[in-house]
Amino acid sequence: RIAWIDGAFVPLADARVSVMDRGFLFADGIYEVTAVLDGKLIDSARHLSRLQRSADALGLTFPYTSEQIEAVERELIVRNQIDQGSVYLQLTAGAAERDFLRKADTPPTLVMFTQAYDYLNSPAAEKGVAVVTMSDLRWARRDIKSVMLLAQVLAKRAAAEAGAQEAWMVEDGFVTEGASSTALIVTQAGTLVTRPYSQTVLPGCTRAAIWALAEQDGVTIEERAFTVDEALAAREAMLTSATTFVMPIVSIDGRPVADGKPGPIARRLRQLYIEAARAS
Ligand code: PLP
Repeated sequence: RIAWIDGAFVPLADARVSVMDRGFLFADGIYEVTAVLDGKLIDSARHLSRLQRSADALGLTFPYTSEQIEAVERELIVRNQIDQGSVYLQLTAGAAERDFLRKADTPPTLVMFTQAYDYLNSPAAEKGVAVVTMSDLRWARRDIKSVMLLAQVLAKRAAAEAGAQEAWMVEDGFVTEGASSTALIVTQAGTLVTRPYSQTVLPGCTRAAIWALAEQDGVTIEERAFTVDEALAAREAMLTSATTFVMPIVSIDGRPVADGKPGPIARRLRQLYIEAARAS
């Protein structure tokens, strides 16, 4: 596998970052994950704009233009022969003497690599996934795609131990989002509901795309927070993310959502999302 680090394509095994890197020492960094289908990037403009937004929030100067980043991503897709997969990108504040304060002249570290997936043949999408709920233990700026992911690592581990594929995090009685996905429900009245953008959640790129597709498809949509009880009483529940597209949720805390089978709106939105990605 070939990775890209600070201007050079190198074998992944030879890609090295200093132990003094601020990403390693302070989680002083951000990342993006963009899906690849048919060898093409999906929703690249949305991911690049969120990347810029995250960089601005941390005060990191982005060292390349969006066009340059996309050119590297495309080259990585070709070199790694990725038909279905993702490109991971991480930008950190670079390597310097350990100090909470950054030095202005420290060059940032930028790394990219690819991963292969099989989106179109996904047993999870066919069967649906289980989620378990837990307290949201994260910080107050979840709208920044920070590499500080320990709360999500612990949430995912707890979910896996409970036999579930995702954790839904709950704050003040309301679901914020999944550990690595946006949370959505369909009410008994047929309205697709998800939490509005704020500092409490990451503005999901897949959610933005799905939202537009749902609206075009005539689905009633509403941005508001919902509780776990509302989700349990819903007609459907689902999650969205770059590397899962749309996944139907069939159980929450071991209790079935509706009849415990993937719902028609989740299935349809998944299909529309894939069609739109392939047509782009
Ligand atoms: N929320 C969190 C906390 C995430 O980590 C992710 C993706 O990894 C998402 C939501 C979904 O965002 P996107 O659709 O842009 O992948």
